Amino acid sequence: MLCWLQQALRAYDNPVIDAAIRLANTMQLPVLVYHGVRKDYPYASDRLHHFILGASVDLADGCRRRGLAVVQHVDRAERREKGLAYRLCIDAAALVLEDQPTFVARWQAERVAVRIDIPVFAVNAACLVPPAVIGADVTGRTAFLRRHEPARATWLAWDDEVAEVAPYEGDLPFTPDRLGADDLGRLIAELDIDHSVPASAAHPAGRAAAEGRLARLLAAVLPGYASARNDATRSDGASGLSPYLHFGVLGPREIMAAVDAAPAGAQHKRKFADELLGWREWFHYQARQLAVPEGYHRVAGWARQTLADHAGDPRPEHETLEAMLRGETRDETWNACQRQFLADGWMHNNLRMYWAKRIIAMTSSPEAAWATACYLNDRLSLDGRDPSTYGNLAAMFAGAPADRERPVYGKVATRGDGSTRHREGGAAWLEQAAARLVPAVTIPATAPVDPYLTGGPPI
Ligand SMILES: Cc1cc2nc3c(=O)[nH]c(=O)nc-3n(C[C@H](O)[C@H](O)[C@H](O)COP(=O)(O)OP(=O)(O)OC[C@H]3O[C@@H](n4cnc5c(N)ncnc54)[C@H](O)[C@@H]3O)c2cc1C
Repeated sequence: MLCWLQQALRAYDNPVIDAAIRLANTMQLPVLVYHGVRKDYPYASDRLHHFILGASVDLADGCRRRGLAVVQHVDRAERREKGLAYRLCIDAAALVLEDQPTFVARWQAERVAVRIDIPVFAVNAACLVPPAVIGADVTGRTAFLRRHEPARATWLAWDDEVAEVAPYEGDLPFTPDRLGADDLGRLIAELDIDHSVPASAAHPAGRAAAEGRLARLLAAVLPGYASARNDATRSDGASGLSPYLHFGVLGPREIMAAVDAAPAGAQHKRKFADELLGWREWFHYQARQLAVPEGYHRVAGWARQTLADHAGDPRPEHETLEAMLRGETRDETWNACQRQFLADGWMHNNLRMYWAKRIIAMTSSPEAAWATACYLNDRLSLDGRDPSTYGNLAAMFAGAPADRERPVYGKVATRGDGSTRHREGGAAWLEQAAARLVPAVTIPATAPVDPYLTGGPPI
């Protein structure tokens, strides 16, 4: 039974692995877990590779502890293994992979599923309540929550499956890598990827770091979450868990079980659940319903129309891509936001709203704004390329219409920076942000375009 993990990089509490074990037990077959990393996916960088491969090391250790054979492969010039997933399928009875609605995991799963002739099962490990069980007919968040909320308790109860058959020891169509945490720096340095975007010190890779973040959430963040979460100047206002969630190092079930058991006040737990389950899983559901969740055309029609009506307006706040990428525009607050992306590979939620809205004024057209926002978010942020990326950006490009029409934005509401700048401590925070050392990331030769509209998935 081949279990292909693409983004759910955890050994336990992993529905993809558990589905593979359950199927394998039924057929009295061993499971082979496979995790491979290409070097030619969009935005491949030291930052993403470190995070992914660090998680893969712990994933493999955990799988072995569970009595499962696991093979890893890092794509590189001297170790190209074309079509590895297909070749691994040749001797498999069935393939279990991920039901992920965006980016590489989705493209790969869709491509493989139509080309192989063994059964393929796509299992969701990203959400507490798998989007597939909600049904395909929900169009609004309120209706989504009406189905989602009652389903949560059922999915919170989980027991890891136990493999009945000894680990797979048969032939393999390639020589696997055996990744160790100590080898990753050297290995990554030799790859033909973007070395100008370095690993994030704020979000170290691996399971121990994720567990540390979860412990910090329970002890320091959750007790004040409902009131502190909007304050970007505080270091204890938000959990910083999104990178670990994006790459599945931690699943929402484990986080919610810990939150439910914590002694924090009910209003804080409710607010946290609203973000982690109510918003995050809504965006996953939305993305799964869309053929191309990453494209500009997902933005509400009225918003695209009003932005198009104002596409010819003068744009005095226009900035070059270089100034934006490096966080060196004329807007001090925007630069502070962008510098968080550059330095940490993460940005506070409250800043992201201002950052995204301002990109509409800083670029030459609404389409260029969308492409630039996706590009900056996806290239720099560890949690980018996610259903929450495109869902939130779409909300920033539309949302509730403004009370009056403005240049460039039309009826799309604008947003000021007062919630950070005018807070107590705001000025000091801006000063610190400006003084931060950030990497000098390379500037692309051409401006970003919406890659998903022009030629389909780039790989
Ligand atoms: C323009 C814009 C772009 C965004 N891009 C991304 C992205 O690329 N990847 C991403 O994961 N999130 C994105 N978000 C959502 C949110 O900003 C981040 O999830 C959050 O800042 C992550 O920090 P945290 O883990 O400390 O959040 P916490 O406040 O600790 O929240 C806990 C978890 O709840 C979920 N969550 C919180 N807020 C949201 C939200 N608005 N939408 C969906 N889920 C949420 C996240 O999984 C988060 O890890 C974006 C928001 C905006 C406005």
